[in-house]
Amino acid sequence: MKSQHIMERGNAVMMPTYARFPIVFDHGKGCELTDVDGKTYLDFTAGIAVNCLGYDHPALTAAIDQQAREMLHVSNLYWHEPMVDAAEKLTRLSGLDQVFMCNSGAEANEAAMKLARIYAKHEKSKDAVEIIAMDHSFHGRTYAAITATGQPKYQKDLDPLMPAIRHVPFNDIDALNRAVSSRTAAILLEPVQGEGGIHPADPDYLKAVRTLCDDQNIVLIFDEVQCGIGRTGTFFAYQQYGIKPDIVCFAKGIAGGVPMGGIIGSARVSQYFTPGTHASTFGAGPLATAAANVVLDIVGDPAFLDEVKRKGDYLTEGLRSLQAKGDVIMDIRGLGLMQGIELSCEAGPIVNRAIENGLLLVGAGSHVIRFVPPLIVSETEIDRALAILEKSLPTA
Ligand SMILES: *Cc1c(COP(=O)(O)O)cnc(C)c1O
Repeated sequence: MKSQHIMERGNAVMMPTYARFPIVFDHGKGCELTDVDGKTYLDFTAGIAVNCLGYDHPALTAAIDQQAREMLHVSNLYWHEPMVDAAEKLTRLSGLDQVFMCNSGAEANEAAMKLARIYAKHEKSKDAVEIIAMDHSFHGRTYAAITATGQPKYQKDLDPLMPAIRHVPFNDIDALNRAVSSRTAAILLEPVQGEGGIHPADPDYLKAVRTLCDDQNIVLIFDEVQCGIGRTGTFFAYQQYGIKPDIVCFAKGIAGGVPMGGIIGSARVSQYFTPGTHASTFGAGPLATAAANVVLDIVGDPAFLDEVKRKGDYLTEGLRSLQAKGDVIMDIRGLGLMQGIELSCEAGPIVNRAIENGLLLVGAGSHVIRFVPPLIVSETEIDRALAILEKSLPTA
């Protein structure tokens, strides 16, 4: 088999950072991926919430193709129009004021934490440096982002970590109230925790966090790298909670598969990213922003977002009827097309069986399976995925 040979070559020369599934993909179409040996899979992972428009969306590929011919890259020493278009759309869709663009989720969180600390130095005191993040959170693999990540397994052997970043339990306003002090610069959280097991914030909790930040002049940062860009049925998840952060971080789905990340801040906070305070060579580049403009137009359309919500409900209903048939599914959580099922057994073997049966799924922690299909997924494809999942669950 062709895949076997490619994997052997890869194992020899790629650093072994990933326990990859033994599949070598060749191409994709809509919500399906085909491997080099010709087997096709229905994809409910979507590059982990990246391929929001699937694998070969005509508008997206056309925009990338055209931009690649016109101008692939240009430095942030200069302006170009796709970047300004994307920033205008992002501010309109977020209700926030100014944008900084980079290339990944970790970098977006780095930018947010830097900006928050600069803001607090000026607007609070030189001792206001502390960032409070949440247990079970995930914020990326760079040093500040991995320090903010509330999962010790990702921090093994990396110490010393970044100073002045601490953790409290998620959805626990009393713990947060106790942790906050005059030293607090920022609170960082995911409105829907992704890697940590698909845990949405409680509405009352998120509102109380906003009030706390207002009262104490604390920068509220939402990491919407996974739950943003239409994933939950609103462009950003916080829009379902009736509040706004001071900074929102995005990445993953923003350019449909082209690497891109960024933050959007309120004017009050954004003014502190003055010339020289932060930068990124590739950030806001023409190729990524041309792709982002397509995603922003399509996913930012209220009718498209309503569809995401409807299909999310449809998926939840299907998962509920699966749950009723057995005793493996303990809990169903999520918003829109970001759903998770908590199992009474390990998720790994079920994910492996689903893959054998032609459905790509990904875990989120040891006992949770995550569903983050392309946002263009159809009801028929949801039915197919549910049928394969049912076949892959253990029959007790
Ligand atoms: C994936 C993810 C990140 C990290 O993004 P990278 O692009 O891999 O750096 C950060 N935060 C959340 C919530 C994520 O899901």
